[in-house]
Amino acid sequence: GAPVSNVAGIGNGAKNGILIKGGDVVESLAKVDTIVFDKTGTLTTGKMTVADTKSYTDDKTLLAGVAQIEKTSDHPLAQAIVAHLSAHLPADTATLETETIKGRGMAGNWHDNQLFVGNAALLNDNGIELTADQLNDLHTMQDDGQSTVLVGYQGKLAFILGVADTVRPEVPEALAALKRQGIKHLVMLTGDNQATAQAVAESLSIDEVHADLLPADKVTFVKKFQDMGRNVAFVGDGINDSPSLATASVGIAMGGGTDVAIETADVVLMQSSFTALNHAVGLAKKTSANTK
Ligand code: ADP
Ligand code: MG
Repeated sequence: GAPVSNVAGIGNGAKNGILIKGGDVVESLAKVDTIVFDKTGTLTTGKMTVADTKSYTDDKTLLAGVAQIEKTSDHPLAQAIVAHLSAHLPADTATLETETIKGRGMAGNWHDNQLFVGNAALLNDNGIELTADQLNDLHTMQDDGQSTVLVGYQGKLAFILGVADTVRPEVPEALAALKRQGIKHLVMLTGDNQATAQAVAESLSIDEVHADLLPADKVTFVKKFQDMGRNVAFVGDGINDSPSLATASVGIAMGGGTDVAIETADVVLMQSSFTALNHAVGLAKKTSANTK
């Protein structure tokens, strides 16, 4: 069974808003030297709002199509866009036939043409090129830390929607504290684009950023770090994160995250608060020192 001090450690953790599923986890957590974080919904609140819209078309009815397509997606970006465009949603809509394009976005049929809503790769894959001015707008929004959603129709870019998310308030200090607590490598992984990811990481004690990832790429990074001999913890919130949570030596789920993530994880941050993570790392190191 778990040593007595580990049990005390777990009890202490529960009081601090953290759920640790067993004594072995405390041992593993004490050894962690690398923490890998998902960006959206983990380092950020995931409560997104449309902050900026750039228009390159006179056909404003297209926004009704965008709203209807995004209504069929459960992506957090889609939810923000539907909320923003709710006025464009007709009360009784014949459901649009839509398609999810993995790691890219959505496509739907709008007035006998395909309407694309997603990232730059989605438009690129479908032969839609951006002008120099449009690219400039895109990069300005991304450098500002916004996630960008592009709308393409009839071979042209019609809109760019800039979606803002906010870093959880305690995250900057919590990451700095993890470094002080002896965690050597802090890594951010995201499906979002490089410029946006870089802008978010800039204000944080993040050592490494990897962007434009497909869900399966996250677990590849966890394995790569493990092959380098590191002891890896992964922190995430989504269904996409569960393979990484299971692969890492310590999987840490946000309490407000999806059920699958919470079930797969070894540690749950009950209030989705990173302050609890600092407590847990401190406790684990102290507890493991006591049992030696
Ligand atoms: P993540 O949510 O971690 O970024 P996904 O694989 O779900 O990873 O999506 C990858 C990218 O594809 C997103 O960052 C976004 O740019 C685009 N995308 C996915 N779904 C949608 C959607 N419903 N609407 C707009 N863009 C989307
Ligand atoms: Mg996430």
